[in-house]
Amino acid sequence: MRVQSRGQPPQHLKNDTLPGLGLVQGPVRMCVGCRGLGLRTELVRLVIVTSGQHDTAGENQLRVVVDERRSLPGRGAWLHPEFRCWKAAERKRAVHRALHGERRLDVSSVATWFELFDSQRPKALGE
Ligand SMILES: [Zn+2]
Repeated sequence: MRVQSRGQPPQHLKNDTLPGLGLVQGPVRMCVGCRGLGLRTELVRLVIVTSGQHDTAGENQLRVVVDERRSLPGRGAWLHPEFRCWKAAERKRAVHRALHGERRLDVSSVATWFELFDSQRPKALGE
């Protein structure tokens, strides 16, 4: 049985499928960025929180945040902890679609989270 070690860059997630998917422990989710699969415990969960502020159209502004403990209520969108998955999701507006249809969502805190994450992670060879 293949055991995935923690604390290493998720090299095995570079493809769209997990090797040994039939053997993985626990539920699997689809990344809205690359549409690849990953273990629920290895993906980052995004959820909506209400900011209490209103935008120029008078709509209640909704913020998307990274749910680090994967425990906040509501519908979640899942992403690999990979900057490129976030960028792909952003480009496709995949987070907006996954979470709340056409509603306006403020994803700036997610962007910040991924930028910080990317800046802290050691660069792999060839990147
Ligand atoms: Zn992904």
